[in-house]
Amino acid sequence: MAKKLNFKQELTGCFGQPVAENPTQAMIEAAYRHHGLAWRYLTMEVSPSDLGDAVRGVRALGFQGFNCTIPHKVSVIQHLDGLGESASLMEAVNCVVRKGEKLIGENTDGKGFVDSLKPLISIPGKKVVVLGAGGASRAICVELALAGASHITLINRSQSRGETLAQLLRDRVKVGLTYQPWVGDYSVPEGTDIVVNATSIGLYPDENARIPLNLATLKPGMVVADVIPNPPRTRLVREATALGCLVIDGLGMLVNQGIIGIRHWTGIDPDPSVMRQALEEVFG
Ligand code: NDP
Repeated sequence: MAKKLNFKQELTGCFGQPVAENPTQAMIEAAYRHHGLAWRYLTMEVSPSDLGDAVRGVRALGFQGFNCTIPHKVSVIQHLDGLGESASLMEAVNCVVRKGEKLIGENTDGKGFVDSLKPLISIPGKKVVVLGAGGASRAICVELALAGASHITLINRSQSRGETLAQLLRDRVKVGLTYQPWVGDYSVPEGTDIVVNATSIGLYPDENARIPLNLATLKPGMVVADVIPNPPRTRLVREATALGCLVIDGLGMLVNQGIIGIRHWTGIDPDPSVMRQALEEVFG
């Protein structure tokens, strides 16, 4: 009997900068294949001046959604029909989802991070130190506050960026907040439950770069999370593991934000292990 073939391929994609082998594409398409979905996830370079046309293209071609990355996370908002709660609080979008005829902007970076923390620690009432005040830190701090963290100590080298994020958090979410400029080696205060590196220190090719942190203040049992996905075993991940901390690497966050995207687009819950394996293959 002839097998019925399905030629229709649903489309999702990523608007960002070109890379030889896009890790997110490898991860998402591994999940599509594993679950037998006739979907594709395409990576396209879109210049800032073409962003409006690209989003109109998404509408015309019937894409179910797309990720967008730097430099489009904020400027894409003007081309969308609405925002989810987190994207609206952060004023940044990394995932767009078609709902009927509408394109809705979501932010899955912070949610992916919080999902990777949950197996290790219950977040409500916890005290967190977040190093860095860029886009990743903003997403993480907003979601930690929404998840019920009691206090965030924000540490950032550039004072203006640190204070801008601190003010956004004070204005928009309910969490105790302290901002401290980063001077010398930072000592994590006693009583801290979770420490997050949300800076780009340690990202390939600077994988041996040292985070200015007093390692003696990382205690056994403390949760230490690094957002850097490449390499996954950063210097901080190795040092915190040796000190007896509960450690989360950047791949967990990347996989979890991918899971949320796939769930939004396709309605299925993908297998995280298949996605992590695809990333590990790309990152070697
Ligand atoms: P940004 O450029 O927005 O922010 C970078 C942050 O790192 C700033 O706070 C900057 O401080 C700080 N920083 C950089 N170098 C140093 C240094 N030498 N000393 C002290 N602080 C430093 O980047 P993003 O927030 O978008 O991304 C940060 C990292 O998060 C990237 O490496 C990215 O790969 C990773 N990421 C991981 C994801 C995942 O799923 N695992 C998702 C999203 C991002 P200052 O303000 O002083 O310049």
